[in-house]
Amino acid sequence: MTRPELRLSSGALRANVEAVRARIAPSALMLVLKDDAYGHGLSWAVETAVDSGVEWFGSYDIRSAIAVRRVAGGDVRIFAWVTSTDGEIDDALLQRIDLGVGTIEYLRRIIARAEALGTSARVHLKIDTGLHRNGILPEDWVSAVIEARQAERAGHLDIEGVWSHIAEASDADDDVAQTVFLDAVRVVGESGTTPAALHLTASAASWWRPELRGTMSRIGAFCYGVRSADGPELEGIRPAASLIATVTDIADNEATIGIGSFDGLPSSLSGAGVGTPGGKRELTSIGHTTSVVRSWPGARIGDEVVVFGDGAHGEESATTLAERIDTVGEEILTRLTSRVRRVVAD
Ligand SMILES: *Cc1c(COP(=O)(O)O)cnc(C)c1O
Repeated sequence: MTRPELRLSSGALRANVEAVRARIAPSALMLVLKDDAYGHGLSWAVETAVDSGVEWFGSYDIRSAIAVRRVAGGDVRIFAWVTSTDGEIDDALLQRIDLGVGTIEYLRRIIARAEALGTSARVHLKIDTGLHRNGILPEDWVSAVIEARQAERAGHLDIEGVWSHIAEASDADDDVAQTVFLDAVRVVGESGTTPAALHLTASAASWWRPELRGTMSRIGAFCYGVRSADGPELEGIRPAASLIATVTDIADNEATIGIGSFDGLPSSLSGAGVGTPGGKRELTSIGHTTSVVRSWPGARIGDEVVVFGDGAHGEESATTLAERIDTVGEEILTRLTSRVRRVVAD
């Protein structure tokens, strides 16, 4: 009973989703679920979000998109944006998954599979707005749109969206990206109709830069209560997960807890503050399966120590821990291994 737990708060996830939606309206929320819902567990995140009325999910690859379909049922929309094999395209078409398309070659394969299966594919064409990470280049955009429209007329394709991804590192670069994006949307509009789903921004830009939002915003981190590294706290947003370890031994003013680097806790985090029944204490060392915390009055074997969470016991957030080692809060969560049990707390 000394395995660590990632304790999940459905109430916090629901409240975060509500706060994000209120902030970005009328832009619609697409909840991003990559990396097993940022380490929280896909099924829990999808069930909780469906309960809150979330209608769009962003699942990275087709395999996880199909897992979302299994949990969420037939009504929600699921967007998978990684270029995939023909076999997986077939699965996606049968499960009515929306596909992100960043190359003409992938567009042609999707059209061919839709034709072979006698169905039509829902696609979101991706324009490269400067990140050079998969995306149709502006000089190829017109011909891609012409091919997509032809397939649409033939009944094999529905252009459901236009999208891109921005760096969110500098406002000036993001502004340039938006100009390229809007130009791509204009070209699609001139070819007939404008698709309903126009999406460019993730958490930070959706929250802070309303002028960049499209009709939809793809948001992961803020919904899970993970603020940006070196960014401010966010109104109405709190961590949806706390990492709990149990005291297994006490000696010489030191409490040993049952968590270590094998659980995915970076050993470079020694020196951080954690939450204990006696308030904030220093995490003095991190071993393979155990770590050491400075003790507190009345400490007992079986006490719970909160490694990160919402601060209720003096602990830091995942992002504050991440900042100590120059990474982002998502990384602290997604590194946790399967040794850490995911437990729904409320
Ligand atoms: C991860 C990701 C997002 C969500 O980013 P957050 O900063 O976690 O909101 C959105 N779009 C794409 C393409 C992504 O890879």
